Amino acid sequence: MDLTQLLKYQEVDAKLFQIEQKLTSSPYKKKANELAGLAKKAQAKSTELENEANNVLKEIDELKANFTQNKKSLDGLLKKDLDKFSLEELDSFTTLKSKILSNLNSLEKMLQKSAEKINNILGEFNKTKKMYDNARAQFEECKKKIQEESKVLEPEKEKIKKELQELEKHVDSKLMEEYKKRRNDNIFPVVVPLEGKNFCGRCRMELPMAAISRINDTGVITCEHCKRLVYKK
Ligand SMILES: [Zn+2]
Repeated sequence: MDLTQLLKYQEVDAKLFQIEQKLTSSPYKKKANELAGLAKKAQAKSTELENEANNVLKEIDELKANFTQNKKSLDGLLKKDLDKFSLEELDSFTTLKSKILSNLNSLEKMLQKSAEKINNILGEFNKTKKMYDNARAQFEECKKKIQEESKVLEPEKEKIKKELQELEKHVDSKLMEEYKKRRNDNIFPVVVPLEGKNFCGRCRMELPMAAISRINDTGVITCEHCKRLVYKK
């Protein structure tokens, strides 16, 4: 089988492959991926902080209710006429009063601590938000650059594609199908010459002699290792 046309096709296709590689390996693309990861992390952190804040707010509500309850008890206690108390009653009054006062005192401290917690969370939240905004903005910038790069190369790609469409007409359709299958899997070059008597010209793996004996009839054989089409020069 004459492979001249297919090799010609591959020669032109190499230019297209090169452009595709250039676009995928663009440093902007790598950077954009990194930034997208960062933004996602920041988003997760924000959610985490929000949950944390909600918990602390709930805590504060409970502490406040507790505080009001104790304050009410204290006010009630202070309204009592101590003169009418027996010694025993006065004793339990004093104990209760000091207990409530100590309650109020520790509740106040806890409330203060919770307020500090909320402040810390808020600070952290603002920091995270800034990080997110920053990553988003940089991501958009990268996206623009990627689009610009692609726009510059697009006409060239189209030109090559048209050329390939013409060349394809002269290649055996079955062979073309095999070629495209590999090309879609990002294998390139697809067609490589046999090296020596029985080695793949790309990965240098030894090809079975049974396959080699078929090469004259079929034109190409598949290297089981790298999946390339191997032909005899
Ligand atoms: Zn191979």
